[in-house]
Amino acid sequence: MRRDYEYIVLGLGGWGSAAAYWLSRRAGADVLGLEQFELGHVRGESQDHSRIIRLSYHTPEYVELAKHAYKAWAEVERDAGEQLVLRTGGLDFGPRESAIPLTNYSGSMDAAGVAYEHLDAAEIRRRWPQFTVTDDIHGLYQPESGIAMAARGNAAHLRMATAHGATLRDRAPVERLRPTSGEIEVTAGGVGYRCRRLVIAAGAWSNGALTHFGVHLPLRVTKEQVTYFATPHQSDFQPDRFPIWIWMDDPCFYGFPTFGEAGPKAGQDAGGQEVTADTRTFEPDQAALKRTTDFLGRYIPKALGPIIYTKTCLYTLTPDRDFVIATLPEHPNVAVGIGGGHGFKFASLIGRILSELAIDGRTEQNIEPFRIDRAILQLLNPPTSYMV
Ligand SMILES: Cc1cc2nc3c(=O)[nH]c(=O)nc-3n(C[C@H](O)[C@H](O)[C@H](O)COP(=O)(O)OP(=O)(O)OC[C@H]3O[C@@H](n4cnc5c(N)ncnc54)[C@H](O)[C@@H]3O)c2cc1C
Repeated sequence: MRRDYEYIVLGLGGWGSAAAYWLSRRAGADVLGLEQFELGHVRGESQDHSRIIRLSYHTPEYVELAKHAYKAWAEVERDAGEQLVLRTGGLDFGPRESAIPLTNYSGSMDAAGVAYEHLDAAEIRRRWPQFTVTDDIHGLYQPESGIAMAARGNAAHLRMATAHGATLRDRAPVERLRPTSGEIEVTAGGVGYRCRRLVIAAGAWSNGALTHFGVHLPLRVTKEQVTYFATPHQSDFQPDRFPIWIWMDDPCFYGFPTFGEAGPKAGQDAGGQEVTADTRTFEPDQAALKRTTDFLGRYIPKALGPIIYTKTCLYTLTPDRDFVIATLPEHPNVAVGIGGGHGFKFASLIGRILSELAIDGRTEQNIEPFRIDRAILQLLNPPTSYMV
């Protein structure tokens, strides 16, 4: 068995499978991916039918990044020969005075030259009578928003990484990382490997991997959930009749048209309890479910129906909710990516960026906001702001 690789990717969830894919396009058989569980497992952050993808974001930097995210997915779609993004249009809506001001989103899209529409309540109701919004509500509509097909995207990245020559090992937990002169020794599942460049995409387990390099980040892991509802009004919630949506206030809710299951999906953003990745349960939080159903009852009542299931999942939250995409200052041959609970839409692009950091030591993308040594990440108990 080969033990010596140029590149090793630690963690094959959403971002790591993408990193393995983009590395394999340039380095083929010099790439090894290591995953502690089975490929496609549901203990992390990335495994469901759908994740929202959108250009509509709170800063111009994210809007620019999102433009490139669509391009990266399109390239994988071409390579893999299958569709991974479904455009449904997206509605960001909420009260005119809210914790997540729509002006941040419209201003960022203006700055980035992205077209959108500003809709008042009457226009929202006219286009989609499914939204029972009162006159104090307004919204932004952006037609490029839609669904990143998460499980399918992960499988495509993994399949194509293998097709390009990479080796992927599941049930291979990385237990030890030891930097030596210019190399890194990696012990996984009792087997020793070596590489010149390492990509860490360990999600909620990131600090466990970073500790081997003397790094600890103030991350908060929460157990989040989404629920599929068997609406009796199926035709009203098909992807060509109903957009993805985000309620722009605190609490923040979001949802999808029917995709992957026999009914629409909804959940609360960052509404979960703090857990650890190894001790969390998979039990739905009934209070969070009630908050979501109460919200739907008020604003999208026809979406409700018997619960198909509630699926739990982890967020790995940085205090400012910005990503970490960087090389380690003390170990420039180690690249790290952490998703901040809104990272799936960017998975393919960030896999590409991580591959560039590993191969070239640099990327064309603006990753300055995502430095691992930014001030807030140096604090032991930083203030948090999750509603962005
Ligand atoms: C309910 C929910 C809804 C979301 N909605 C959206 C959305 O609509 N849009 C959006 O863009 N994003 C969304 N996100 C966020 C997005 O899904 C995550 O940001 C993204 O999936 C992060 O992927 P990741 O690769 O960092 O983590 P993961 O997919 O968890 O991957 C980390 C992997 O590393 C492996 N690993 C860790 N340590 C080791 C080790 N020592 N050895 C080997 N393997 C290891 C883990 O087993 C895991 O497979 C949502 C997340 C949740 C939970």
